[in-house]
Amino acid sequence: MEIVQRIKEMQALSNSFKKEGKKIAFVPTMGYFHKGHLSLMQRGKNLADVLIISIFVNPIQFGPQEDFKNYPRDLKRDLPLAQSAGVDVVFIPEAEEVYPPNYQSYLEVTQVTQHLCGISRSGHFRGVTTIVAKLFNIIKPDIALFGLKDYQQYVVIKCMVNDLNYDIDIIGCPTIREPDGLAMSSRNTYLTIEQRKSALCLYKSLKLAEKLVKNGQRDAKAIIEKIVSYIKSRPYTQIDYVKICNPETLKDLDYLKDKALLALAVNVGRARLIDNTILEVC
Ligand code: AMP
Repeated sequence: MEIVQRIKEMQALSNSFKKEGKKIAFVPTMGYFHKGHLSLMQRGKNLADVLIISIFVNPIQFGPQEDFKNYPRDLKRDLPLAQSAGVDVVFIPEAEEVYPPNYQSYLEVTQVTQHLCGISRSGHFRGVTTIVAKLFNIIKPDIALFGLKDYQQYVVIKCMVNDLNYDIDIIGCPTIREPDGLAMSSRNTYLTIEQRKSALCLYKSLKLAEKLVKNGQRDAKAIIEKIVSYIKSRPYTQIDYVKICNPETLKDLDYLKDKALLALAVNVGRARLIDNTILEVC
């Protein structure tokens, strides 16, 4: 497994893979790996000749009050995990080279970013699309893999790739969960033992909604009210949003028809957790 830090070196390496006719899979990450990250890597490995990942805690996608400084980082632990997942190249750029002092170019997807996390995390998706576009330009992958746990991020990246004609297949990968259902996240490490118990309310809310829909409930507001009152009953929780929306446009839905996205963002202690499911109406 090769470790590359400089942008020019990464570009040269990717160009050499391309010249050899190799198909490149790419998994962008912020590190502090768990099985969710590793599942993306394993899928990428199966779909391409070369698997490249990046580890970069991207400062411009964090708001001023967010956890950029405290975001967990542990390269010593991550690198052997990446190696065991079959990664060929780990790209670990320096923030100073990614955003030099005169940096002034940003990429914005204007509509699907206006809902869900885009409301409380202003500027977040602008930071995400800017770094992902830069990484795509450096690595030039044929396919890139993203987790559906960050469903809105997946939709935003798909939109960017489609609008700007990137010749890259974007592959959404299922959410990997702890045995009790909590979605794996690097931020779960912030939870105390008591908060960890409360954090399960996100997954349980998804299951509650699925049950309500199965029993015939189609009114989005009624489902949301039940979830909100359930989450509020759990200690250490503060709801950011509970939304039922169109899975493509992310616009709110009043009534469920065909497929609807249920998306949640809940602060549990100092961890901001998100989760989602597609509610299917048969
Ligand atoms: P992050 O390091 O949090 O930026 O995540 C890197 C990639 O891993 C993103 O595409 C995430 O959506 C994905 N990811 C994070 N958590 C999970 C999970 N529990 N299951 C599947 N994918 C995940």
